[in-house]
Amino acid sequence: MSFKDLNLIKPLQKAVEASGYVEPTLVQQRSIPLILEGKDVIVSAQTGTGKTAAFALPILQKLYDKQDTPKKGKKIRAVILSPTRELALQIQQNFKSYAEFTNLTTLVVFGGASIEPQIDGLKKGVDILVATPGRLLDLHKQDYINLDYVETFVLDEADLMLDMGFIDDIKKVERLCPENKQTLLFSATIPNKIEELANSILTNPERIDV
Ligand code: AMP
Repeated sequence: MSFKDLNLIKPLQKAVEASGYVEPTLVQQRSIPLILEGKDVIVSAQTGTGKTAAFALPILQKLYDKQDTPKKGKKIRAVILSPTRELALQIQQNFKSYAEFTNLTTLVVFGGASIEPQIDGLKKGVDILVATPGRLLDLHKQDYINLDYVETFVLDEADLMLDMGFIDDIKKVERLCPENKQTLLFSATIPNKIEELANSILTNPERIDV
């Protein structure tokens, strides 16, 4: 299978080529069509399988269709929760390179770092927000983040986030987003507590095991 078979739009085809990708990985082949269809998914995939592009590419494609907003008027339309600063940064870097030939913008916010530059970034307007849960909630409480326009909500490394005690924060963020959003859950392992979380926040999810 090639990226063409996945019906990716030109700007994304160009970006994957520029990244040197020749063909989609297994998790990308299985996830991208379902995410483009609008399904909720629960995906068990390890880091290194190409799972970031498996959610980033279809998210960019869905947002691209509707984008022609001036930067300042941009609303957050996709939120990706990640357990650590390092992982959040990696995800945002990936989004940035896949979005190179679009006008879509990304921002990453995480704890343990100065909040001011993050506030400045949010004020400029952004389409895609990558965040660690605590800092997102902090910025929301201070009124710098509005999640009313979120169309896609992603939990990455969900098992790690639960191990780190983020369950209540995850549920809080989920409740701040509109009810009819699409939710994508990625996790290296799917223990019972991940199943329980999925049951409480996903709607008729498709399960993908890689
Ligand atoms: P991830 O599992 O998302 O951490 O990705 C692991 C690495 O695989 C990253 O360095 C990606 O840039 C790379 N990658 C993602 N998709 C592909 C692909 N289709 N072909 C080659 N490399 C890829």
